[in-house]
Amino acid sequence: MTAYVLRVLRKDARRSLVLEADELQQAREVQFKLAQKEDGMKLSDQEIQTLNPEVYTDGLIRAHGCLVHVKKLNKPACCPIILKGSSLWTTLFVRHIHAKVFHHMAGAEQTLAEVRKAVWITKGWETVRKILRRCVHCRRLRSSTVTQEMGPSL
Ligand SMILES: [Zn+2]
Repeated sequence: MTAYVLRVLRKDARRSLVLEADELQQAREVQFKLAQKEDGMKLSDQEIQTLNPEVYTDGLIRAHGCLVHVKKLNKPACCPIILKGSSLWTTLFVRHIHAKVFHHMAGAEQTLAEVRKAVWITKGWETVRKILRRCVHCRRLRSSTVTQEMGPSL
């Protein structure tokens, strides 16, 4: 949705309803920027100090990864965007990724690994496990089947 709104705001003349990869990436960055702004994230936040945060040219607060000096790696790979674990945006993003990795097919580890391809969540492991515990789809699949009891013998 955000990508379509950005397209209209930019007066982009593309007629196709199919979004291109660059449009989706820009929309995602706008959403993450909004998330950081709504959460009131600052470089001085105690919660993110261990990640060595920096504001990059795109305006996003990113973790200063140790792979930043490897020239072949692109920015998202070495400097992930930081999101707070307590944020609603984080919950929505984790749910989206969890659905993308097919719920029960992937546990918390794989979901967190997929999430970390794009963002770094504070208290990531705890946050993802909490969100997955509440997933209705997974709960339904994990539930045991009820066996029918035999009636009393006459
Ligand atoms: Zn699920």
